[in-house]
Amino acid sequence: MTTFNEFKLSSDILKALNGLGYHEATEVQAQVIPTILNKEDLMVQSKTGSGKTASYGIPVCEQIDWEENKPQALILTPTRELAVQVQEELMHIGRFKRLKVVAVYGKSPFKDQVRELKQKTHIVVGTPGRVLDHIERGTLNLQQIKSVILDEADEMLNMGFIETVEMILKMTPKARQTMLFSATMPNAIKKLAKNYLSQPTEIKIESKSIATDLVEHALYPVRMQEKVRLLQELLTVENPGRCIVFCSTREAVDALYQGLKAKGYPVNRLHGGMEQRDRLEVMRNFKMGQFSFLVATDVAARGIDVSDLTHVFNFDLPEDQESFVHRIGRVGRAGKVGKAITFVTPFETKLLEQIQAYIGFELPVIERPVATEVEKARAAFEAKLKERPKIKVQKHADVNKEIMKIYLNGGKKKKLRAIDFVGTILSIDGVEKEDIGIIDIQENVTYIDILNGKGWSVIDGLKTKTIKGKKLKVQKAYN
Ligand code: ADP
Ligand code: MG
Repeated sequence: MTTFNEFKLSSDILKALNGLGYHEATEVQAQVIPTILNKEDLMVQSKTGSGKTASYGIPVCEQIDWEENKPQALILTPTRELAVQVQEELMHIGRFKRLKVVAVYGKSPFKDQVRELKQKTHIVVGTPGRVLDHIERGTLNLQQIKSVILDEADEMLNMGFIETVEMILKMTPKARQTMLFSATMPNAIKKLAKNYLSQPTEIKIESKSIATDLVEHALYPVRMQEKVRLLQELLTVENPGRCIVFCSTREAVDALYQGLKAKGYPVNRLHGGMEQRDRLEVMRNFKMGQFSFLVATDVAARGIDVSDLTHVFNFDLPEDQESFVHRIGRVGRAGKVGKAITFVTPFETKLLEQIQAYIGFELPVIERPVATEVEKARAAFEAKLKERPKIKVQKHADVNKEIMKIYLNGGKKKKLRAIDFVGTILSIDGVEKEDIGIIDIQENVTYIDILNGKGWSVIDGLKTKTIKGKKLKVQKAYN
Protein backbone atom coordinates (compact mmCIF):
# COMPACT_ATOMS: atom_id res chain seq x y z
CA MET A 1 0.00 0.00 0.00
CA THR A 2 1.33 3.42 -0.97
CA THR A 3 -0.07 6.58 0.57
CA PHE A 4 0.36 9.91 -1.17
CA ASN A 5 2.46 11.21 1.71
CA GLU A 6 5.30 9.05 0.46
CA PHE A 7 5.79 11.25 -2.59
CA LYS A 8 7.22 14.70 -2.35
CA LEU A 9 3.97 16.56 -2.80
CA SER A 10 3.09 19.99 -1.50
CA SER A 11 0.42 20.37 1.15
CA ASP A 12 -1.95 22.05 -1.33
CA ILE A 13 -2.02 18.94 -3.48
CA LEU A 14 -2.24 16.53 -0.52
CA LYS A 15 -5.16 18.51 0.87
CA ALA A 16 -7.00 18.27 -2.46
CA LEU A 17 -6.40 14.50 -2.69
CA ASN A 18 -7.75 14.09 0.76
CA GLY A 19 -10.87 16.02 -0.22
CA LEU A 20 -11.30 13.77 -3.24
CA GLY A 21 -11.14 10.71 -1.01
CA TYR A 22 -7.91 9.49 -2.58
CA HIS A 23 -6.02 8.02 0.34
CA GLU A 24 -3.98 5.27 -1.24
CA ALA A 25 -2.26 5.42 -4.60
CA THR A 26 -3.46 2.87 -7.14
CA GLU A 27 -0.86 0.55 -8.64
CA VAL A 28 -0.30 2.70 -11.70
CA GLN A 29 -0.13 5.86 -9.60
CA ALA A 30 2.47 4.34 -7.27
CA GLN A 31 4.74 3.78 -10.26
CA VAL A 32 3.95 6.77 -12.44
CA ILE A 33 3.98 9.61 -9.90
CA PRO A 34 7.64 9.24 -8.80
CA THR A 35 8.77 8.71 -12.39
CA ILE A 36 7.16 11.93 -13.57
CA LEU A 37 8.44 13.86 -10.56
CA ASN A 38 11.85 12.53 -11.56
CA LYS A 39 11.41 14.26 -14.95
CA GLU A 40 11.59 11.09 -17.01
CA ASP A 41 9.73 10.53 -20.24
CA LEU A 42 7.21 7.80 -19.86
CA MET A 43 5.19 5.15 -21.69
CA VAL A 44 2.42 3.58 -19.69
CA GLN A 45 0.25 0.66 -20.62
CA SER A 46 -2.48 0.02 -18.13
CA LYS A 47 -6.07 -1.02 -18.25
CA THR A 48 -8.92 1.41 -18.11
CA GLY A 49 -10.20 2.33 -14.65
CA SER A 50 -6.81 2.05 -13.03
CA GLY A 51 -6.53 5.73 -12.12
CA LYS A 52 -4.31 6.97 -14.94
CA THR A 53 -5.68 10.51 -14.97
CA ALA A 54 -4.51 11.26 -11.45
CA SER A 55 -1.28 9.33 -12.05
CA TYR A 56 -0.17 12.15 -14.35
CA GLY A 57 -2.51 14.81 -12.97
CA ILE A 58 -0.95 14.80 -9.51
CA PRO A 59 2.73 15.22 -10.53
CA VAL A 60 1.84 17.64 -13.33
CA CYS A 61 -0.12 19.87 -10.96
CA GLU A 62 2.75 19.59 -8.48
CA GLN A 63 5.28 20.77 -11.06
CA ILE A 64 3.33 23.82 -12.23
CA ASP A 65 4.81 27.18 -11.36
CA TRP A 66 1.83 29.31 -10.32
CA GLU A 67 3.52 32.60 -11.22
CA GLU A 68 3.93 31.73 -14.90
CA ASN A 69 1.04 33.02 -17.01
CA LYS A 70 1.51 30.89 -20.13
CA PRO A 71 0.44 27.23 -20.26
CA GLN A 72 3.01 24.79 -18.88
CA ALA A 73 1.30 21.47 -19.53
CA LEU A 74 -0.63 20.24 -22.56
CA ILE A 75 -2.82 17.14 -22.44
CA LEU A 76 -4.29 15.60 -25.57
CA THR A 77 -7.34 13.31 -25.39
CA PRO A 78 -9.30 11.58 -28.16
CA THR A 79 -12.79 12.87 -27.29
CA ARG A 80 -14.40 16.01 -25.98
CA GLU A 81 -16.03 14.20 -23.08
CA LEU A 82 -12.65 12.96 -21.96
CA ALA A 83 -11.14 16.40 -22.29
CA VAL A 84 -13.81 17.73 -19.96
CA GLN A 85 -13.42 14.83 -17.54
CA VAL A 86 -9.65 15.27 -17.39
CA GLN A 87 -10.01 19.03 -17.03
CA GLU A 88 -12.35 18.56 -14.07
CA GLU A 89 -10.10 16.02 -12.36
CA LEU A 90 -7.05 18.27 -12.74
CA MET A 91 -8.96 21.27 -11.56
CA HIS A 92 -9.88 19.38 -8.41
CA ILE A 93 -6.33 18.21 -7.83
CA GLY A 94 -4.99 21.73 -8.37
CA ARG A 95 -7.75 23.51 -6.53
CA PHE A 96 -5.85 24.69 -3.51
CA LYS A 97 -2.86 25.55 -5.60
CA ARG A 98 -5.30 27.75 -7.56
CA LEU A 99 -4.43 26.22 -10.90
CA LYS A 100 -6.35 27.27 -13.97
CA VAL A 101 -7.08 24.32 -16.25
CA VAL A 102 -8.73 25.06 -19.59
CA ALA A 103 -10.42 22.52 -21.87
CA VAL A 104 -10.51 23.18 -25.62
CA TYR A 105 -12.43 20.98 -28.02
CA GLY A 106 -14.36 21.16 -31.26
CA LYS A 107 -17.98 22.20 -31.76
CA SER A 108 -17.75 24.58 -28.84
CA PRO A 109 -17.42 28.34 -29.40
CA PHE A 110 -13.87 29.20 -30.42
CA LYS A 111 -14.27 32.71 -29.10
CA ASP A 112 -14.93 31.61 -25.50
CA GLN A 113 -11.87 29.37 -25.57
CA VAL A 114 -9.73 32.19 -26.92
CA ARG A 115 -10.91 34.43 -24.11
CA GLU A 116 -9.99 31.80 -21.54
CA LEU A 117 -6.61 31.11 -23.10
CA LYS A 118 -5.79 34.82 -23.08
CA GLN A 119 -5.83 34.83 -19.31
CA LYS A 120 -3.48 33.09 -16.97
CA THR A 121 -3.67 29.40 -17.88
CA HIS A 122 -1.56 26.70 -16.29
CA ILE A 123 -2.80 23.57 -18.03
CA VAL A 124 -4.58 23.03 -21.34
CA VAL A 125 -6.55 19.85 -22.06
CA GLY A 126 -7.95 19.32 -25.52
CA THR A 127 -8.72 17.22 -28.54
CA PRO A 128 -5.96 17.27 -31.18
CA GLY A 129 -7.90 19.07 -33.92
CA ARG A 130 -8.97 22.01 -31.82
CA VAL A 131 -5.61 22.28 -30.08
CA LEU A 132 -3.88 22.52 -33.45
CA ASP A 133 -6.42 25.15 -34.51
CA HIS A 134 -5.52 27.29 -31.53
CA ILE A 135 -1.82 26.87 -32.13
CA GLU A 136 -2.13 27.84 -35.78
CA ARG A 137 -4.23 30.89 -35.04
CA GLY A 138 -1.77 31.96 -32.40
CA THR A 139 -4.26 31.72 -29.55
CA LEU A 140 -2.40 28.95 -27.72
CA ASN A 141 1.16 29.79 -26.79
CA LEU A 142 3.46 26.79 -26.43
CA GLN A 143 6.66 28.57 -25.38
CA GLN A 144 6.39 27.59 -21.74
CA ILE A 145 5.14 24.03 -22.23
CA LYS A 146 7.19 21.72 -20.04
CA SER A 147 5.01 18.59 -20.14
CA VAL A 148 2.95 16.97 -22.85
CA ILE A 149 0.63 14.07 -22.11
CA LEU A 150 -1.00 11.84 -24.70
CA ASP A 151 -3.94 10.19 -22.95
CA GLU A 152 -5.59 7.17 -24.60
CA ALA A 153 -3.00 7.30 -27.36
CA ASP A 154 -4.33 4.14 -29.03
CA GLU A 155 -7.75 5.69 -29.33
CA MET A 156 -6.31 8.85 -30.87
CA LEU A 157 -4.68 6.54 -33.38
CA ASN A 158 -7.97 4.72 -34.07
CA MET A 159 -9.73 8.01 -34.63
CA GLY A 160 -7.15 9.14 -37.15
CA PHE A 161 -5.59 11.87 -35.01
CA ILE A 162 -2.05 10.55 -35.03
CA GLU A 163 -0.74 12.98 -37.66
CA THR A 164 -2.29 15.90 -35.87
CA VAL A 165 -0.73 14.71 -32.63
CA GLU A 166 2.67 14.56 -34.35
CA MET A 167 2.27 18.07 -35.73
CA ILE A 168 1.49 19.35 -32.26
CA LEU A 169 4.43 17.51 -30.70
CA LYS A 170 6.76 19.03 -33.28
CA MET A 171 5.69 22.52 -32.27
CA THR A 172 6.24 22.07 -28.53
CA PRO A 173 9.62 22.93 -26.97
CA LYS A 174 12.24 20.21 -27.38
CA ALA A 175 13.13 20.23 -23.70
CA ARG A 176 9.65 19.05 -22.73
CA GLN A 177 8.80 15.95 -20.72
CA THR A 178 6.54 13.66 -22.78
CA MET A 179 4.22 11.02 -21.34
CA LEU A 180 2.18 8.56 -23.30
CA PHE A 181 -0.72 6.56 -21.87
CA SER A 182 -2.39 3.78 -23.76
CA ALA A 183 -4.50 0.71 -23.00
CA THR A 184 -2.78 -1.15 -25.85
CA MET A 185 0.54 -0.60 -27.63
CA PRO A 186 0.04 -1.13 -31.36
CA ASN A 187 3.08 -0.58 -33.60
CA ALA A 188 2.07 2.90 -34.70
CA ILE A 189 2.06 4.00 -31.07
CA LYS A 190 5.44 2.43 -30.40
CA LYS A 191 6.79 4.28 -33.40
CA LEU A 192 5.34 7.55 -32.19
CA ALA A 193 6.99 6.94 -28.82
CA LYS A 194 10.31 6.19 -30.48
CA ASN A 195 10.22 9.43 -32.45
CA TYR A 196 8.94 11.81 -29.80
CA LEU A 197 9.87 10.41 -26.40
CA SER A 198 13.38 10.50 -25.10
CA GLN A 199 14.58 7.30 -23.45
CA PRO A 200 11.17 6.69 -21.94
CA THR A 201 10.67 4.60 -18.85
CA GLU A 202 8.20 1.89 -19.77
CA ILE A 203 5.59 0.95 -17.24
CA LYS A 204 3.22 -1.88 -17.89
CA ILE A 205 0.69 -2.84 -15.31
CA GLU A 206 -0.30 -6.41 -16.01
CA SER A 207 -4.03 -6.34 -15.97
CA LYS A 208 -5.56 -9.45 -14.64
CA SER A 209 -8.10 -10.55 -17.17
CA ILE A 210 -10.75 -7.88 -17.45
CA ALA A 211 -13.28 -10.63 -17.19
CA THR A 212 -12.72 -13.02 -14.40
CA ASP A 213 -11.84 -10.52 -11.77
CA LEU A 214 -14.46 -7.93 -11.28
CA VAL A 215 -16.81 -8.45 -14.18
CA GLU A 216 -19.32 -11.25 -14.50
CA HIS A 217 -20.10 -12.06 -18.13
CA ALA A 218 -23.23 -13.42 -19.78
CA LEU A 219 -23.72 -14.15 -23.46
CA TYR A 220 -27.18 -14.34 -25.02
CA PRO A 221 -27.58 -15.69 -28.54
CA VAL A 222 -30.58 -13.84 -29.98
CA ARG A 223 -32.19 -13.04 -33.30
CA MET A 224 -32.08 -9.44 -34.43
CA GLN A 225 -35.82 -8.83 -34.13
CA GLU A 226 -35.86 -10.29 -30.62
CA LYS A 227 -33.18 -8.02 -29.18
CA VAL A 228 -35.41 -5.30 -27.77
CA ARG A 229 -37.66 -7.83 -26.03
CA LEU A 230 -34.68 -9.63 -24.55
CA LEU A 231 -33.24 -6.35 -23.34
CA GLN A 232 -36.48 -5.48 -21.57
CA GLU A 233 -36.63 -8.91 -19.96
CA LEU A 234 -33.08 -8.68 -18.75
CA LEU A 235 -33.51 -5.15 -17.48
CA THR A 236 -36.50 -6.42 -15.51
CA VAL A 237 -34.73 -9.45 -14.08
CA GLU A 238 -31.40 -7.75 -13.44
CA ASN A 239 -32.98 -4.49 -12.31
CA PRO A 240 -29.73 -2.53 -12.58
CA GLY A 241 -29.32 0.76 -10.76
CA ARG A 242 -27.59 2.33 -13.69
CA CYS A 243 -26.34 0.85 -16.92
CA ILE A 244 -25.04 1.68 -20.37
CA VAL A 245 -26.50 -0.07 -23.41
CA PHE A 246 -24.06 -0.02 -26.31
CA CYS A 247 -25.24 0.04 -29.93
CA SER A 248 -23.06 0.09 -33.01
CA THR A 249 -24.47 3.11 -34.84
CA ARG A 250 -26.08 6.47 -34.12
CA GLU A 251 -29.23 5.31 -35.87
CA ALA A 252 -29.39 2.20 -33.69
CA VAL A 253 -28.95 4.37 -30.59
CA ASP A 254 -31.75 6.69 -31.68
CA ALA A 255 -34.11 3.82 -32.48
CA LEU A 256 -33.55 1.96 -29.22
CA TYR A 257 -33.71 5.17 -27.21
CA GLN A 258 -37.06 6.14 -28.77
CA GLY A 259 -38.42 2.66 -28.15
CA LEU A 260 -37.43 2.54 -24.47
CA LYS A 261 -38.56 6.09 -23.91
CA ALA A 262 -42.00 5.33 -25.36
CA LYS A 263 -42.30 2.56 -22.80
CA GLY A 264 -41.64 5.04 -20.00
CA TYR A 265 -38.13 3.94 -19.06
CA PRO A 266 -35.78 6.48 -17.44
CA VAL A 267 -33.50 6.54 -20.44
CA ASN A 268 -31.32 8.94 -22.40
CA ARG A 269 -28.84 8.67 -25.25
CA LEU A 270 -25.35 9.70 -26.28
CA HIS A 271 -23.72 9.63 -29.69
CA GLY A 272 -21.32 11.60 -31.83
CA GLY A 273 -24.05 13.14 -33.98
CA MET A 274 -25.44 15.16 -31.10
CA GLU A 275 -24.61 18.76 -30.26
CA GLN A 276 -21.68 19.08 -27.91
CA ARG A 277 -23.74 20.94 -25.34
CA ASP A 278 -26.32 18.15 -25.27
CA ARG A 279 -23.66 15.47 -24.99
CA LEU A 280 -22.10 17.08 -21.96
CA GLU A 281 -25.46 17.64 -20.37
CA VAL A 282 -26.49 14.01 -20.86
CA MET A 283 -23.23 12.82 -19.29
CA ARG A 284 -23.62 15.20 -16.38
CA ASN A 285 -27.19 14.08 -15.73
CA PHE A 286 -26.21 10.44 -15.99
CA LYS A 287 -23.39 10.90 -13.50
CA MET A 288 -25.79 12.64 -11.15
CA GLY A 289 -28.29 9.81 -11.42
CA GLN A 290 -31.13 11.71 -13.08
CA PHE A 291 -31.87 8.75 -15.33
CA SER A 292 -30.84 5.11 -15.18
CA PHE A 293 -30.28 3.76 -18.67
CA LEU A 294 -27.89 5.33 -21.14
CA VAL A 295 -28.02 4.14 -24.74
CA ALA A 296 -24.71 5.03 -26.42
CA THR A 297 -22.20 4.44 -29.18
CA ASP A 298 -18.60 3.50 -28.42
CA VAL A 299 -16.96 6.79 -29.24
CA ALA A 300 -19.21 8.84 -27.03
CA ALA A 301 -18.72 6.64 -23.99
CA ARG A 302 -14.99 6.10 -24.34
CA GLY A 303 -13.07 6.48 -21.09
CA ILE A 304 -16.09 7.87 -19.31
CA ASP A 305 -16.10 7.30 -15.59
CA VAL A 306 -19.45 6.86 -13.85
CA SER A 307 -19.43 5.60 -10.30
CA ASP A 308 -21.81 2.83 -9.23
CA LEU A 309 -22.38 1.60 -12.75
CA THR A 310 -23.44 -2.03 -12.30
CA HIS A 311 -24.19 -3.27 -15.83
CA VAL A 312 -23.13 -2.81 -19.41
CA PHE A 313 -25.12 -4.31 -22.26
CA ASN A 314 -23.56 -5.05 -25.61
CA PHE A 315 -26.82 -4.70 -27.46
CA ASP A 316 -24.80 -4.85 -30.67
CA LEU A 317 -21.38 -6.44 -30.77
CA PRO A 318 -18.64 -3.87 -31.32
CA GLU A 319 -16.79 -3.87 -34.63
CA ASP A 320 -13.41 -4.23 -33.01
CA GLN A 321 -12.12 -6.14 -30.03
CA GLU A 322 -10.62 -3.17 -28.26
CA SER A 323 -13.97 -1.46 -28.09
CA PHE A 324 -15.29 -4.53 -26.33
CA VAL A 325 -12.60 -4.18 -23.69
CA HIS A 326 -13.34 -0.49 -23.31
CA ARG A 327 -17.06 -1.06 -22.96
CA ILE A 328 -16.49 -3.67 -20.28
CA GLY A 329 -14.09 -1.26 -18.60
CA ARG A 330 -17.06 0.96 -17.69
CA VAL A 331 -17.99 -1.53 -14.93
CA GLY A 332 -15.85 -3.32 -12.39
CA ARG A 333 -14.13 -0.03 -11.61
CA ALA A 334 -12.55 1.05 -8.35
CA GLY A 335 -12.83 -2.46 -6.95
CA LYS A 336 -16.57 -2.87 -7.49
CA VAL A 337 -18.13 -5.91 -9.15
CA GLY A 338 -20.06 -5.41 -12.37
CA LYS A 339 -21.90 -7.41 -14.97
CA ALA A 340 -21.46 -7.40 -18.74
CA ILE A 341 -24.28 -8.77 -20.86
CA THR A 342 -23.58 -9.44 -24.51
CA PHE A 343 -26.06 -10.16 -27.31
CA VAL A 344 -24.95 -12.08 -30.36
CA THR A 345 -27.00 -12.76 -33.49
CA PRO A 346 -26.49 -15.85 -35.65
CA PHE A 347 -24.66 -13.72 -38.24
CA GLU A 348 -22.07 -12.52 -35.78
CA THR A 349 -20.36 -15.79 -34.84
CA LYS A 350 -17.16 -14.77 -36.58
CA LEU A 351 -17.02 -11.42 -34.83
CA LEU A 352 -17.68 -13.11 -31.51
CA GLU A 353 -14.85 -15.57 -32.11
CA GLN A 354 -12.46 -12.69 -32.76
CA ILE A 355 -13.50 -10.97 -29.57
CA GLN A 356 -13.12 -14.14 -27.54
CA ALA A 357 -9.69 -14.77 -29.00
CA TYR A 358 -8.67 -11.24 -28.09
CA ILE A 359 -9.86 -11.35 -24.49
CA GLY A 360 -8.58 -14.90 -24.08
CA PHE A 361 -11.67 -16.70 -22.85
CA GLU A 362 -15.15 -17.71 -23.94
CA LEU A 363 -18.15 -15.76 -22.76
CA PRO A 364 -20.50 -18.11 -20.89
CA VAL A 365 -23.79 -18.65 -22.71
CA ILE A 366 -26.74 -18.06 -20.41
CA GLU A 367 -30.31 -19.23 -20.90
CA ARG A 368 -32.82 -16.54 -21.61
CA PRO A 369 -34.99 -15.91 -18.52
CA VAL A 370 -38.29 -17.80 -18.64
CA ALA A 371 -41.57 -15.92 -18.54
CA THR A 372 -42.34 -16.76 -14.92
CA GLU A 373 -38.96 -15.46 -13.85
CA VAL A 374 -39.59 -12.16 -15.63
CA GLU A 375 -43.07 -11.89 -14.10
CA LYS A 376 -41.71 -12.51 -10.65
CA ALA A 377 -39.18 -9.71 -11.04
CA ARG A 378 -41.61 -7.24 -12.56
CA ALA A 379 -43.02 -5.73 -9.38
CA ALA A 380 -39.60 -4.85 -8.02
CA PHE A 381 -38.50 -3.46 -11.39
CA GLU A 382 -41.56 -1.27 -11.75
CA ALA A 383 -41.27 -0.08 -8.20
CA LYS A 384 -37.74 1.08 -8.94
CA LEU A 385 -38.89 2.86 -12.12
CA LYS A 386 -41.48 4.76 -10.13
CA GLU A 387 -38.99 5.87 -7.53
CA ARG A 388 -38.08 9.47 -7.89
CA PRO A 389 -34.53 9.58 -9.13
CA LYS A 390 -32.05 9.97 -6.33
CA ILE A 391 -29.80 12.80 -7.30
CA LYS A 392 -26.29 11.72 -6.51
CA VAL A 393 -24.10 14.08 -4.67
CA GLN A 394 -21.17 14.63 -6.95
CA LYS A 395 -18.02 12.85 -5.92
CA HIS A 396 -16.16 16.11 -5.67
CA ALA A 397 -18.71 17.85 -3.51
CA ASP A 398 -16.32 17.83 -0.55
CA VAL A 399 -13.74 19.84 -2.35
CA ASN A 400 -16.32 22.16 -3.84
CA LYS A 401 -18.09 22.84 -0.60
CA GLU A 402 -15.40 25.13 0.60
CA ILE A 403 -15.32 27.08 -2.64
CA MET A 404 -17.75 29.75 -3.76
CA LYS A 405 -17.65 31.55 -7.07
CA ILE A 406 -18.56 35.21 -6.73
CA TYR A 407 -19.69 37.55 -9.47
CA LEU A 408 -18.77 41.21 -9.89
CA ASN A 409 -20.24 43.49 -12.54
CA GLY A 410 -16.99 44.94 -13.85
CA GLY A 411 -14.08 43.65 -15.89
CA LYS A 412 -11.62 44.62 -18.59
CA LYS A 413 -13.70 47.52 -19.93
CA LYS A 414 -13.30 49.18 -16.55
CA LYS A 415 -9.56 48.45 -16.77
CA LEU A 416 -9.66 46.17 -13.78
CA ARG A 417 -6.84 43.69 -13.28
CA ALA A 418 -6.45 40.70 -10.98
CA ILE A 419 -4.25 42.68 -8.65
CA ASP A 420 -7.01 45.26 -8.11
CA PHE A 421 -9.44 42.58 -6.96
CA VAL A 422 -6.84 40.83 -4.80
CA GLY A 423 -5.89 44.09 -3.11
CA THR A 424 -9.45 44.90 -2.08
CA ILE A 425 -10.33 41.35 -1.03
CA LEU A 426 -7.25 41.14 1.18
CA SER A 427 -8.36 44.28 2.97
CA ILE A 428 -11.36 42.35 4.32
CA ASP A 429 -10.86 41.09 7.88
CA GLY A 430 -10.03 37.40 8.16
CA VAL A 431 -9.34 36.85 4.46
CA GLU A 432 -5.88 35.72 3.37
CA LYS A 433 -4.12 35.26 0.07
CA GLU A 434 -4.77 31.50 0.24
CA ASP A 435 -8.51 32.12 0.22
CA ILE A 436 -8.52 33.64 -3.27
CA GLY A 437 -8.81 31.17 -6.11
CA ILE A 438 -9.11 31.56 -9.84
CA ILE A 439 -9.92 35.05 -11.08
CA ASP A 440 -11.69 35.13 -14.44
CA ILE A 441 -11.85 38.68 -15.80
CA GLN A 442 -14.13 39.12 -18.79
CA GLU A 443 -15.12 42.25 -20.70
CA ASN A 444 -17.86 43.40 -18.36
CA VAL A 445 -17.89 40.91 -15.52
CA THR A 446 -15.46 39.07 -13.29
CA TYR A 447 -15.75 35.73 -11.49
CA ILE A 448 -13.57 34.91 -8.51
CA ASP A 449 -13.34 31.61 -6.65
CA ILE A 450 -13.22 32.14 -2.90
CA LEU A 451 -11.85 29.15 -1.02
CA ASN A 452 -12.02 27.78 2.50
CA GLY A 453 -15.66 28.60 3.06
CA LYS A 454 -15.10 32.35 3.10
CA GLY A 455 -17.38 33.18 0.16
CA TRP A 456 -20.05 34.99 2.15
CA SER A 457 -17.56 36.96 4.24
CA VAL A 458 -15.97 38.22 1.05
CA ILE A 459 -19.34 39.16 -0.47
CA ASP A 460 -20.34 41.01 2.69
CA GLY A 461 -16.92 42.63 2.91
CA LEU A 462 -16.97 43.84 -0.69
CA LYS A 463 -20.38 45.49 -0.29
CA THR A 464 -18.80 48.38 1.59
CA LYS A 465 -15.59 48.59 -0.43
CA THR A 466 -14.49 49.85 -3.83
CA ILE A 467 -12.21 48.20 -6.36
CA LYS A 468 -9.72 50.58 -7.91
CA GLY A 469 -12.03 53.32 -6.69
CA LYS A 470 -15.05 51.81 -8.42
CA LYS A 471 -18.17 50.55 -6.69
CA LEU A 472 -19.16 47.15 -8.10
CA LYS A 473 -22.18 44.97 -7.59
CA VAL A 474 -21.16 41.68 -6.01
CA GLN A 475 -23.09 38.45 -5.54
CA LYS A 476 -22.75 34.66 -5.50
CA ALA A 477 -22.36 33.42 -9.07
CA TYR A 478 -24.88 30.86 -10.25
CA ASN A 479 -23.08 29.12 -13.08
P1 ADP B 1 -8.31 5.42 -16.23
O1 ADP B 1 -7.88 6.70 -16.87
O2 ADP B 1 -7.17 4.52 -15.90
O3 ADP B 1 -9.39 4.72 -17.01
P2 ADP B 1 -9.48 7.13 -14.25
O4 ADP B 1 -8.36 8.07 -14.13
O5 ADP B 1 -10.67 7.56 -15.02
O6 ADP B 1 -8.96 5.74 -14.82
O7 ADP B 1 -9.89 6.70 -12.76
C1 ADP B 1 -10.91 5.76 -12.47
C2 ADP B 1 -11.65 6.11 -11.19
O8 ADP B 1 -10.84 5.91 -10.04
C3 ADP B 1 -12.08 7.56 -11.13
O9 ADP B 1 -13.40 7.59 -10.61
C4 ADP B 1 -11.16 8.21 -10.15
O10 ADP B 1 -11.77 9.30 -9.50
C5 ADP B 1 -10.86 7.06 -9.20
N1 ADP B 1 -9.54 7.15 -8.56
C6 ADP B 1 -8.37 7.47 -9.16
N2 ADP B 1 -7.35 7.42 -8.28
C7 ADP B 1 -7.89 7.03 -7.10
C8 ADP B 1 -7.33 6.80 -5.79
N3 ADP B 1 -6.03 6.90 -5.56
N4 ADP B 1 -8.18 6.41 -4.82
C9 ADP B 1 -9.50 6.29 -5.08
N5 ADP B 1 -10.09 6.50 -6.27
C10 ADP B 1 -9.29 6.87 -7.28
MG1 MG C 1 -8.25 7.62 -18.61
